[in-house]
Amino acid sequence: MEQRQSACPLDCPDICSLTVTVDGGRVTAVDGDRRSPLTDGFICGKVRKIADHLYGEDRVLEPLVRVGPKGAGQWRTATWDEALDLVAARLAEIRGRAGGEAILPYHYGGSNGWLTEGSLATRLFRRLGASRCERTLCAAATTAASRGLYGAMPGTALEDYEHTRLIVLWGVNPSATGIHLVPVIERAREAGAKLVVVDPRRTPLARRADLHLPIRPGTDLPVALAAIHAAFARGHADLAFLDRHATGVDELRRRAARWTIDEAAAIAGIEARQLDALIELYARTTPALLRAGWGPERNRNGGSAIASILALPAVYGKLGVRGGGFTLSNSDARWTLSAETGIGEPPARTRGVNMSGLADALRDLRGPALECVFVYNCNPAATAPDQRGVIEQLSREDVFVVVHDQVMTDTARLADVVLPATAFLEHRELRRGYGAMRLFDSRPVVAPAGQARSNNQLFGALLERLGLVREGDAMTDDELVARTLAASPRGAELVAQLAEHGAAAPPEGGPRPVPFADVFPGTPDGKIHLVPPELEQQAPGGLYAYRPDPGTAAFPLALISPSLATQISSTFGQLRKAPAALEMSPADAAARGISDGDRVRVWNALAEVHCRVRITLDVRPGVCALPKGLWRKHTENGLTANALIPAAYADLAGQATYNDARVEVARL
Ligand code: SF4
Repeated sequence: MEQRQSACPLDCPDICSLTVTVDGGRVTAVDGDRRSPLTDGFICGKVRKIADHLYGEDRVLEPLVRVGPKGAGQWRTATWDEALDLVAARLAEIRGRAGGEAILPYHYGGSNGWLTEGSLATRLFRRLGASRCERTLCAAATTAASRGLYGAMPGTALEDYEHTRLIVLWGVNPSATGIHLVPVIERAREAGAKLVVVDPRRTPLARRADLHLPIRPGTDLPVALAAIHAAFARGHADLAFLDRHATGVDELRRRAARWTIDEAAAIAGIEARQLDALIELYARTTPALLRAGWGPERNRNGGSAIASILALPAVYGKLGVRGGGFTLSNSDARWTLSAETGIGEPPARTRGVNMSGLADALRDLRGPALECVFVYNCNPAATAPDQRGVIEQLSREDVFVVVHDQVMTDTARLADVVLPATAFLEHRELRRGYGAMRLFDSRPVVAPAGQARSNNQLFGALLERLGLVREGDAMTDDELVARTLAASPRGAELVAQLAEHGAAAPPEGGPRPVPFADVFPGTPDGKIHLVPPELEQQAPGGLYAYRPDPGTAAFPLALISPSLATQISSTFGQLRKAPAALEMSPADAAARGISDGDRVRVWNALAEVHCRVRITLDVRPGVCALPKGLWRKHTENGLTANALIPAAYADLAGQATYNDARVEVARL
C-alpha cells in the first residue's frame, strides 16, 4: 500500500489537494491533504468514493463500435488501431467532401484540467477547420458580465471569508457545490459575522442564515437594481470610490432609479422589509463579502443580473479591504500562464455553434450541415437544453457521433464509436483553480483501467493519422506541461513552488489578493465599467433591462434544476441508483391535490417528465425543483428537467436558460 499526491480537476471551485491510497495498482482511498489551505484535510463525498467510478460496472474499458440501430446498445469491441482508423477515415471523408465545419467538437468541463480540456483536441479541431463549440451551458453570461465590468481580475479569496463581518451568498449553495467555503463561513459567524442568503430554495446555509430572501427565479436583476437605487437615494453610495475607480456611474444610477424596494420585492415575491433589511445590513457592515454563484445567470436576464450584483460592492464601497468585495470566478488570477501555449495553432475563425442549441444546430445548420459530433468531457443527452431534440438528432443515422468518456453515459449510448477515456487519477493534469487560487501539476497515480487513453493520447493519434502534426509540436502530456510552464514569464517560480510545496500560487497577487489593494480591474483604463458598451450592444433592450417572467396561466410554476451534492452536473450520475423526485411546496401541492410520494407528470409545451414528488418547505410556493445533471434512468420516462427548457438564451453570451422552464404538475 502506498500514498500518492494528486489534485481534483473536476468542475468545482475548490480544486482540492488529494492524498490517494493505492494498493495492488488500484485506488483504494482518497482524502484531502493540506497542500491547499482551503482543502484543509477533507474532501467531498463525490471524490471520496471515486473508486466506485473508476472500477464500477459502467466504466468503458475498450473501444466499442455500434453494430445495431443507434441507441440499441448493440456493440462490438475493437482495437484502438481499428477504432482510430475508422474515426480518422470518417473525419477525413466528411472534411474532404463537406468541409471541416461539418464537424463539431462538443465539450465542456467534465474535467477542467488544461491537458484534458484544451490541448491536442483544440489543436486537432482547429487544424481540421471544424466548427467551434461555444461553451454556453454555464458561466457564459457570468464571464461576459464580470469581464465587462472588471476586466480580467480575480475576486476575493475564499479563505478570506473568515475575515469579514457580513457574507451575502447570492444564488449559490456551497453545501453542494463547493463545500470548503462552509467551515470558513462558520468560523466567520463564530467571530460575529452575519450571513444573508438570496436563493429561491431554502438551502442548508439559508436555514442557518440571519436573513433569507427566497426570491423568484429570474428576479435577481430588479432586486439588485433596487439595492443600487437605494444606495444612491439613501446616501449609502461611496461616491468618492466611484469617482476614482468607475465609469458609467450616472447611467447605472439612472437605470436603477426605476426600481423601488416595493416594486422589486413585489416582482421577486418577497416582503419589502426583507430587501430593506439586506440593504441596510450591507450598507452598515464593513468588511462585507458577496459570494455570487452561477444560479442568477440561468435565466433570460442572467447577464444583466450578474452585472447588477457585481456592481453592488463598487456602489457601496466594499472593495479594497481584506474580507471585503466579491467572489465569482477566480479564473482570472494572475497566473502568467496560458493553455494556448501548448496548442501551437492560432484561434480558429470558423463558425461558432452555441452548444446550448445543439439540437437546432444539427437540425437547421447548412453550408455545411453538421455531419459529425465529437463529444469529449461532456454528456449533452443529459446536460444540454432541449433534451428531446438532442436525443432525436444524435440518434440520426446520418450523423456520425464519437464519444470519448470514462463511463457509458446517456450520450455514449447514442454513439457510433465509444472510446474509453482515462480518469484524472490515471493521467497527468495541469490545472489552476477557479475558486481556490492554486495550481497543481498532478501525475498519474494508477495505470488506466482497461484500455483507457487520455485526451491527448487520443487526439495526438488522430492528428498523426490525419497528417496534421507539424514539426516542433508538443505531443505528449509531459511535453505540453513543460512548454506551457517554460513560456510563462514567471514559469520558473511556478516550477519551483510545485517542486517544493506540491502546489503553486499566482506569481502576481499571490493566493489571497485583495481587489483594489493588490489587484485592479483588467479593463484598458483600469476602471470598473458599470455600463460597458460591449454588453450594452449585446443585451436586448440594453444592459439592465428587465424581461418579465415567462410563466403563463397554463404553465405557472418555475422549474429550476439546482446542483446535487452527489454529482458534478452529470458526472458520477451513473452511481446514483435512486430515482429523482420533484421538490414542490406544500401550498402548490395542496392546490393540485398532490400528496408526498405521488407519481406526477411535470409538463409544458415542449415535453413531459414522469417522476415522484417530494413535498418540502425548501422550495417556495410557485417554484419546483428537479436536480441538475440527472441521467435518463432517474425518471420514469427517460426525460429530465432539460426537456422542459425553452429554446431561448440569456441576454448575454448565448447562455442557456435552465431556470426559465415554466411548467404545470399533476398526479399521474
Ligand atoms: S469535487 Fe470539489 S470538493 Fe470534491 S474533491 Fe473535487 S475539488 Fe474537492
